Amino acid sequence: MHTDSLYASTRRYQLSAPQLQQDIHCDVAIIGSGMTGISAALELAECGYNVAVLEAEELAWGASGRSGGQIIAGAGEDGASMLRLLGKDDARAAFQLSLEAIELIRERVKKYSIDCDLKSGQMEVAARPKHMPHLRDAAELMQNEFGYDIQILNAEQSAEKTGSDQYHGAVFDANGGHLHPMNYTLGLAKAAQSHGAQLFEHSAVTHIEYGNKVKLSTAKGSVTSDFLVIAANAYLGKLVPAISRYMMPVGSYICATQPLDESILPADCAVFDSRNLFSYFRKDGEGRLLWGGRTGLTDAYPKNLEAVMHKRMTAIYPQLAGVKF
Ligand SMILES: Cc1cc2nc3c(=O)[nH]c(=O)nc-3n(C[C@H](O)[C@H](O)[C@H](O)COP(=O)(O)OP(=O)(O)OC[C@H]3O[C@@H](n4cnc5c(N)ncnc54)[C@H](O)[C@@H]3O)c2cc1C
Repeated sequence: MHTDSLYASTRRYQLSAPQLQQDIHCDVAIIGSGMTGISAALELAECGYNVAVLEAEELAWGASGRSGGQIIAGAGEDGASMLRLLGKDDARAAFQLSLEAIELIRERVKKYSIDCDLKSGQMEVAARPKHMPHLRDAAELMQNEFGYDIQILNAEQSAEKTGSDQYHGAVFDANGGHLHPMNYTLGLAKAAQSHGAQLFEHSAVTHIEYGNKVKLSTAKGSVTSDFLVIAANAYLGKLVPAISRYMMPVGSYICATQPLDESILPADCAVFDSRNLFSYFRKDGEGRLLWGGRTGLTDAYPKNLEAVMHKRMTAIYPQLAGVKF
């Protein structure tokens, strides 16, 4: 069952995928039905490959059905780190890949009429005055090294977009955006099914046998394939020890308000702030403010989650003091 969330209760796709109960063969087997696995399944099925996706829980059950939904150019590392780690050519190529990924989202939403509240605009806001020089440097690097069109905003311009005077400037990317991540993933899954991809829920892979062919075992069946895509994210457990040893728990949470008027976040873009343990927010298709944060290097449920998130939200939007999550 999906976690009891706003995303699950506003899902617009009711897809049915059976449990795997036989032994099947295909070209490519995929473990995991998040954006990674389903996106690969769609791409491969569009190219005519015979694909099977095995999901331990339900389609889009993992992070792809729970994320902040922000579409952000670049990688986890900032531009300067990418240049340092990869060198100029590879850093540019990696950055370009992220732009192609954004374009691919737009293309697929259009091509398959995916109902996921896709909106444009994304910004990083300076939570403290001393953060702005770093944001400016990072934006100028993206402009100069990657030829990327990104806007540097002063405090007043940033307030016009956010509807809050609490930030000290921002970097705005009109090419970024946000969407309902579960509906996007389920929309991709529907498209993949329409191209013949076989999707199986409640079919956890318990064993992988490597050889000329790969054989995946589940409780009630198996898949033998020429190729394997492992897209199980942090839920992989110990199935692939070579990957598991690089994993660590990171928790992050999102609270939602009732639908709000346009004075809150008038630019309707996705926002995250410049703190190390940052807050991130956006308005969903119905105008609710989705406030994310409380990120920590643990999977233990944080104490006073709602109260802490409310305090952070009202520090930016004091007028929401009476609004509950
Ligand atoms: C709170 C939060 C906010 C986030 N915000 C953003 C954001 O704003 N923007 C952004 O770009 N990213 C964000 N992320 C990260 C983003 O959600 C993930 O990077 C992305 O969804 C990963 O997709 P995935 O398909 O790789 O993994 P997942 O969506 O996690 O899917 C993996 C799937 O594999 C399945 N699985 C695992 N093991 C097995 C097995 N043995 N057999 C079968 N199935 C298995 C799981 O059940 C799961 O459904 C956020 C993440 C979180 C948690």
